[in-house]
Amino acid sequence: MADNPFFAPSSLPYRLPPFAEIREEHYLPAFERGMAEHLAEVAAIAGDEDPPTFDNTIAALERSGRILRRTATVFFSVAASNTSDAVMEIEKRVSPELTRHNDAILLDRALWARVKRVTTDDPEQAWLLEKYREDFVRAGADLTEPEQDRLRRLNQELSKLATEFSQNLLRASTESALVVEDAKELDGLDEATVRSLEKDGRYVLPLLNFTNQPALAQLTDRDVRRRLFELSVGRAPANFGLAVRMATLRAERAALLGFPNHAAYVVADQTAKTVEAVEEMLGQLVGPAVRNAEAEAEALAEQAGFAIEPWDWSFYAEKLRRARYDLDADAMRPYFELDRVYRDGVFKAATLLYGVTFTERPDLTGYHADVRVFEVFDEDGSALGLFLLDPYARANKRGGAWMNNLVDQSFLFDEKPVVMNNLNITKPAAGPTLLSYDEVNTAFHEFGHALHGLFSHVRFPRVSGTKVPRDFVEYPSQVNEMWLTWPEILESYARHHETGEPMPAELVEKLKAAERFNQGFKTLEYLAATLLDWAWHKLQPGEEVADAEAFEKAALEAAGIAFALVPPRYRTNYFMHIFSGGYSAGYYSYIWSEVLDAESVEWFKENGGLKRANGDHFRRELLSRGGSVDPLASFRAFRGREAGIRPLLERRGLL
Ligand SMILES: [Zn+2]
Repeated sequence: MADNPFFAPSSLPYRLPPFAEIREEHYLPAFERGMAEHLAEVAAIAGDEDPPTFDNTIAALERSGRILRRTATVFFSVAASNTSDAVMEIEKRVSPELTRHNDAILLDRALWARVKRVTTDDPEQAWLLEKYREDFVRAGADLTEPEQDRLRRLNQELSKLATEFSQNLLRASTESALVVEDAKELDGLDEATVRSLEKDGRYVLPLLNFTNQPALAQLTDRDVRRRLFELSVGRAPANFGLAVRMATLRAERAALLGFPNHAAYVVADQTAKTVEAVEEMLGQLVGPAVRNAEAEAEALAEQAGFAIEPWDWSFYAEKLRRARYDLDADAMRPYFELDRVYRDGVFKAATLLYGVTFTERPDLTGYHADVRVFEVFDEDGSALGLFLLDPYARANKRGGAWMNNLVDQSFLFDEKPVVMNNLNITKPAAGPTLLSYDEVNTAFHEFGHALHGLFSHVRFPRVSGTKVPRDFVEYPSQVNEMWLTWPEILESYARHHETGEPMPAELVEKLKAAERFNQGFKTLEYLAATLLDWAWHKLQPGEEVADAEAFEKAALEAAGIAFALVPPRYRTNYFMHIFSGGYSAGYYSYIWSEVLDAESVEWFKENGGLKRANGDHFRRELLSRGGSVDPLASFRAFRGREAGIRPLLERRGLL
């Protein structure tokens, strides 16, 4: 196995992983050697006879585990975006091993004793040292032997359950797909879409990973809509049991670690800090969101002429939107061509704000032929990093959109960032890829995360780029969404893919006029999911849940948000974020960081919008800092004051 590509640093530009050389049989040996090497390095640090210093302890920990890091980064990227039966098997096997490995390090008493004795006067080092101390304490370093044994077992089981949950879900997107025999039943979908769904003489519409399937806005056959909706909310039923088990184990673990529940444990190291702070914020939103959604429901019933059901909402909302704003969502698609959206939209906004430029590197490749690689340069021509884009949906790719790092920027290793965006756009059988308005929004959003990674300018990998609290990380990506409708940017990318004509001004105006349309629904479905996450993770240790679906219903009722026509954006059985994605008791983060987002958008507008000076200020004070400073301090340095909730309420029409 001397030729295992994970054993040595990549020789490609920017240490891009050598995907062309990586084969499935390389993963397990690389994980094994990576973990063994890491443990040996950690043992050497813990057993060092010299007195502990920042360099021989904390920096040494930062330098350790290089093979493991390389392997895990590539493996989990492939497991999310281009998996296979073999990769899923490896994932099942290594996930609990990695959990055990982390516990072995963070529960090492000699190492912890040493970390506690480190001191430093350097502010960046002091911040990192504090992060390490938090990591140890939160992992249970101060517990007794028997408590730690119990903790290890809990972590093991939780790790297995999380993998099982996500693998069930991936299978369910095709196993619970809507299948129809006759294309007539798909009336309302455009012809090209219908053709792309044909399989062996039938039509198969796979499920996307949220409740409200986009096709519900188009399908004219009410019974087909009902079937699609029921398939969506009922998928992966085995996950209900897994969710109960996970919530129960998390409650027990929180108690071991000295917290009243898992939510309290999670928010303690977030910017929110306390359960009460989160609840106070959510409490301000529930009432207005429910009232807005109720008013919207009335208007939809009037439009439909009968009492609508949840599977009718999108369909009649689309009709009403057309009637009220004369806005046809499909009429916009020809103006949103994928390549142009990036070149003249997403990338161009970054060029105008930050001076960065992009050059495609067809000589560099990802793990799939559809992955594209771009080299990013600073204004003075110096190299900044690589950006990889994997835009298309595949049956072996998980749902949603996300950003991940393949190489973390750090001065410690003198490494520049290699970051990636994954989207789930349906690949057309032929011709250009035309996006929906929401997909364009997602492209800008995910690229905001990419910029946070690319602009990282820090010493240590532990705090590089997007390694900030979860309730802060969405903020820079949300801010980047503002450029989507910025006139100069919109004019540049929203052009007809055949004629090059700009999107007609009246379409743009209608788009803006309709911005607040259906916001009650959107806010409510999000809040319902948030409060569901919250309820699962406020379970008391020892509290039993007999029936997950009854628990779900009771939780929404208790939060004052049970509204049959607007189900949560995710139900328990497919709530990937919280049962497999690291967002447990953290789904509130999106609206929490929107407070900072709305404040920042206001700042840009007050200061002349899309200008280099504004981009530089945001980059310097915020994007470049990663997690190397207190995130709220960098927000204050950027905004010049504390954040308030008013801009958010105003933007959502909730005042
Ligand atoms: Zn995001």
